[in-house]
Amino acid sequence: MLKGRTALVTGSTSGIGLGIALSLAQRGVNIVLNGFGDVAGPRAQVEAAGPAGLKVGYHGADMSQPAEIAAMMAYVEAEFGGCDILVNNAGIQFVAAVEDFPPERWDAIIAINLSSAFHTTRLALPGMKTRGWGRILNIASVHGLVASAQKSAYVTAKHGLVGFTKAVALETATTGVTVNAICPGWVLTPLVQKQVDARAADLGLSNDEAKRQLLAEKQPSLQFTTPEQLGELAIFLCSEAASNVRGQAWSLDGGWTAQ
Ligand code: NAD
Repeated sequence: MLKGRTALVTGSTSGIGLGIALSLAQRGVNIVLNGFGDVAGPRAQVEAAGPAGLKVGYHGADMSQPAEIAAMMAYVEAEFGGCDILVNNAGIQFVAAVEDFPPERWDAIIAINLSSAFHTTRLALPGMKTRGWGRILNIASVHGLVASAQKSAYVTAKHGLVGFTKAVALETATTGVTVNAICPGWVLTPLVQKQVDARAADLGLSNDEAKRQLLAEKQPSLQFTTPEQLGELAIFLCSEAASNVRGQAWSLDGGWTAQ
């Protein structure tokens, strides 16, 4: 059912986005990568994960720039014949008390973590509806469901993304397009390693002790969720079995939001 379809995964040169791209490629889904930093390495990984002949593309749109997002969607249409699976994953974090939060960091987080999903979705949806099938997966967070101090912009963006997911799921409820959010707890990617490093530096801890404390504070399983687990959840949400899962915010958080 997934083989030969095309997925655009934003922010897929690293972390969770790359994990989801790899799981989709393993099922024979053609992949359009996006994101900053090294592209050749992630591209080679995705090509190696898929069957021979898998088509892998890349577009370097900055997800804070609506015009660049529109250019990326036009590239997917021209080179791949459209986007069947849209994974809105690109995201950044900044940690500070609200009165110390730099306004430009607030604007960047809202643009990249929230508004970019609107800009991709509005352009991907018409083609999905015409073809009668589509999957939109918004990578939100536990912070789309609950808050933490020092993360006002991120919590605001992720709650917004969960709301956006529900609204678009209702607008597409009678179509073959489903729209859902995935809400990970702690995943040990570069985004979280920065927070581990900050804790280790502030409190004079080892890397391992900083990770242990980070998990102990919020994630009852005391284990990080992995990009591979998130990739497999994405595969389920793309499957026929999930065709009536609509507008959900699906946690994979080691019990974080059960507390
Ligand atoms: P990461 O830093 O490993 O990857 C982020 C990706 O987004 C990279 O490919 C980066 O190049 C890309 N990116 C950043 N800014 C961009 C921009 N302006 N335009 C295009 N691409 C851009 O982070 P991650 O942990 O894999 O995070 C991926 C998503 O998962 C984010 O939305 C994040 O909020 C969410 N998330 C992460 C965790 C976690 O614990 N790591 C938990 C919950 C949710």
